[in-house]
Amino acid sequence: MTAINERTISVVSPLTGESAGSVPVTEPSDVAAIVAKSRETFETWGMLSPQDRRPLIRSLTRTVVKNMERIADVIVSETGKDRGDAHAEVVLALTTMDYVARTMRKALRPIKGGSWPFLVTRGWTEYHPIGVAGVISPWNYPFYLPMLSVIQALAAGCSVVLKPSEVAPHSGGIIGDLAVEAGLPDGVVTVIHGYGDTGAALVESADVIAFTGSTEVGRLIAQEAVGTFKPLILELGGKDAMIVLEDASLKDAARTAASFGTFNAGQTCVGVERVYVVDEVYDEFVDHVMDAMRSLNAGQGDRGDIGPMIDRRQVSVIESHVADAIDKGATIALGGKRHETADAVYYEPTVVLDVNHTMDVMHEETFGPVVPIMRVPDEATALHLANDSKYGLHGSVWTKDKRRGERIASRMKTGTVAVNDHLINFFYPTIKLGGIGDSGLGGVMSGDGIRAFCVHRSITEARFRPTTMVLGGWLPRRVGPRWWKFLARALFGWRR
Ligand code: NAD
Repeated sequence: MTAINERTISVVSPLTGESAGSVPVTEPSDVAAIVAKSRETFETWGMLSPQDRRPLIRSLTRTVVKNMERIADVIVSETGKDRGDAHAEVVLALTTMDYVARTMRKALRPIKGGSWPFLVTRGWTEYHPIGVAGVISPWNYPFYLPMLSVIQALAAGCSVVLKPSEVAPHSGGIIGDLAVEAGLPDGVVTVIHGYGDTGAALVESADVIAFTGSTEVGRLIAQEAVGTFKPLILELGGKDAMIVLEDASLKDAARTAASFGTFNAGQTCVGVERVYVVDEVYDEFVDHVMDAMRSLNAGQGDRGDIGPMIDRRQVSVIESHVADAIDKGATIALGGKRHETADAVYYEPTVVLDVNHTMDVMHEETFGPVVPIMRVPDEATALHLANDSKYGLHGSVWTKDKRRGERIASRMKTGTVAVNDHLINFFYPTIKLGGIGDSGLGGVMSGDGIRAFCVHRSITEARFRPTTMVLGGWLPRRVGPRWWKFLARALFGWRR
């Protein structure tokens, strides 16, 4: 269901400058009623067992495979990204959808427990869907990211009201059509469109919020939800560091810095945003990065490795970071300029050297095809600088010594870290993904990702008589401090 009125959002292709369609705006004042309607659907959807919901999750997965071309068409038309990247985005969604379908029963199975150490009773934690999940998503992976939250919410038994980004509304909105085609009950997935005020109204009405987007808006959402104590899952911005040590495979590290520093034109939350290289191998590493970056071209056609930027506002952010770096003494070794065609605006693959932590390019999210590289004396400094950030989304460590890599990875203050790889965590639906610090709250993926959409209800059951009676604390009180002291010594006093 989509509430229709006169206001519409017109989408313009960043690649061709042509119209990519329009969507009706759902007015903020209509959102509460839409959420209430979704809650009615939840009453039946949420009552199904995970076993009964699973075939529909599977059906949605098959429907995505069937519609892959159509989905890619929409993504390309709204974001201008390379067609291959659009397909990759769909495959990424499928990996999580498949994993969720495969594991949802196990993830939602009650966990058994008991009182400790008095094994006189038993208990367990059950997972029940919270209600209506409000999913709010960004434009950079406009199909994959909303699907990630939608699929986990549906598996948990929540109904969903999805507000895709106003910049790429059809790419998220198509999830509503696919849900219908897959045979999900009417109204289990409702799509609304709009700007920040529509999103804010959804935050107010829904029972749990899964937001992916900027730190700035994540902070607003935390404020909007204040006082309600409703669960928030916030996947926010990042400034991901790459650490390159003297024993790294320099060519692999350099090619990865170039690929994932420019992937999706650098508009990737877990892209390579800054690199720290130990002195010994700095020059060689920079040479490899330069080779790799020189082989990339920003533009269209066969030599278009880096697509257009989403809009001019984003280009201004990149330009201000690069200008600030130059002002403070940095050297632009490659690129450093926008170039415009009649329809689109591109940013050249850019390498920035002689950088330091006073520069925006080293501590603010640049979100462009820019790789700043900093020379550091040793591992300890690299780790210290990597951790010197308000963000804590992702990072990577490069060394051939696996033990060393694991040790450093464990000390990086981020939600995910890759050893001898970067960005790859999105292909690991088996383990948790989420940021810390200004990069977010909670997380998605793994069983935890599904359970994030659940009320965790712990139930205890007396085995013989009420536990307090067995312990002697029941009325009439027969025990006093001496009994409790005896118990403390007997049970815990001797433990090593
Ligand atoms: P954005 O924060 O501007 O917008 C995201 C969504 O929030 C949009 O749908 C928007 O309409 C909505 N919104 C805006 N104001 C709102 C409000 N007050 N209340 C509720 N909703 C509101 O982000 P963007 O520009 O679309 O995306 C880029 C950002 O997303 C980058 O910072 C990037 O790092 C981040 N991101 C993070 C991840 C992650 O997994 N951590 C993934 C992708 C993107």
